[in-house]
Amino acid sequence: MTPTEELENLHAMIAHCTECPLHATRTNAVPGEGAVDAKIMFVGEAPGAQEDKLGRPFVGRSGELLTELIEGIGLTRKEVFITSVLKSRPPNNRTPKKSEIDACLPYLDRQLEIIDPELVVLLGGVAVSSLIGPWKMADAHGRFYDGNERTFFITYHPAAALRFPSTREVILADFEKLRAELS
Ligand code: SF4
Repeated sequence: MTPTEELENLHAMIAHCTECPLHATRTNAVPGEGAVDAKIMFVGEAPGAQEDKLGRPFVGRSGELLTELIEGIGLTRKEVFITSVLKSRPPNNRTPKKSEIDACLPYLDRQLEIIDPELVVLLGGVAVSSLIGPWKMADAHGRFYDGNERTFFITYHPAAALRFPSTREVILADFEKLRAELS
């Protein structure tokens, strides 16, 4: 099976997944989208209302900002892969429960195996704690982290920039570091 077929099969499984209670309240599961051979993967927290409605990741207001940030480092959405820790929306965008994260993480692990990106950009505390451990975002953002098998870059979730304008400046500065490292 080719990586594209493996990813399609995985996303079909996610679309019908009932491994945690979120399947009962979602409209659409949101597996993620982008290039199967992406060098960079972006991982957020969970789908929001627009994402749930359309079944696509980061298509709401935070998605507009993420798209700008990706273009700011010289790439397009089609050249990277965008997903989140949870593939189904928590009601009212509440914080994901540990049991939901535990149930869903195998899908993200499998996406990482298939796509095998050179760099994983973690967007916000849930992505950070789920993939590399409980870091304080204030200390961790703007830093690269070498895991056993992968390199991660840590920054805030774009949704935080919509709530707190000062966080937008911090995210922009983090992405400038990322751009400098990639160029
Ligand atoms: S959040 Fe993940 S584990 Fe829960 S139903 Fe959705 S795809 Fe399945």
